[in-house]
Amino acid sequence: MQSEKLSRRRFLAWGATTLAASILPRSWATALTVEPPSPAFATPPLPYPPDALEPYIDARTMEIHHGRHHDGYTKNLNRAIEQESTLREHTIESLLAEIPQLPAAVATTIRNHGGGYYNHNRFWEWMTPGGSEPTADFEAALTQHFGSRAEFQARFREAALRVFGSGWAWLIVRADGSLAITATPNQDNPLMRGLVSETGTPILGVDVWEHAYYLKYQNRRADYIDAWWNVVHWQRVSEQWTQTRTQIR
Ligand code: MN
Repeated sequence: MQSEKLSRRRFLAWGATTLAASILPRSWATALTVEPPSPAFATPPLPYPPDALEPYIDARTMEIHHGRHHDGYTKNLNRAIEQESTLREHTIESLLAEIPQLPAAVATTIRNHGGGYYNHNRFWEWMTPGGSEPTADFEAALTQHFGSRAEFQARFREAALRVFGSGWAWLIVRADGSLAITATPNQDNPLMRGLVSETGTPILGVDVWEHAYYLKYQNRRADYIDAWWNVVHWQRVSEQWTQTRTQIR
């Protein structure tokens, strides 16, 4: 939806520039480019103030993580898109699903920075001040797949602790509608067909890069994950589970 809005805005901007070029003196018109402007992905604002997840995630970590790390991924992704006009108008999801088919000059940048852009867009939305509760249907699905919500959390925590170095742990909906826990290194994610061991639609993920927790927890990743459960937006996760299953059917 956002990409449709963006491309409409870009088209209007291009139209206005073209019109200006046609009515202005030639010397002015030459100075105005009639190339359509490149698409730009934007870092979405945090859905809550940076201190809203205290005491579990501190405000300074949130400010740096969102304002510098996430925004840096967005800027580098946009630079890659500007280099390759054929990639304009793609959604981030379609770019990440087709990395092996992308032009070699930008594939690694889109994998790393496009992955970082997408993963953080999702990550902020999976948290909310004080946390929230899952729907009864989703709680039942967790019980069916993992034994209980507590057992799911224990296995997800193990997957997050096993990530060597930087990466993410995920809860995904597979193509057949089932739930699975998986993990990826760096900014890879389960949308990246051909690059990761398990593909599906992420409905929950935890960032275990040190930048996500080091200021408050230093090397204690387990403490960070244990605290993180207090701010997980289970209601949102439940909604995304329902939406994803509807799309699969
Ligand atoms: Mn991060």
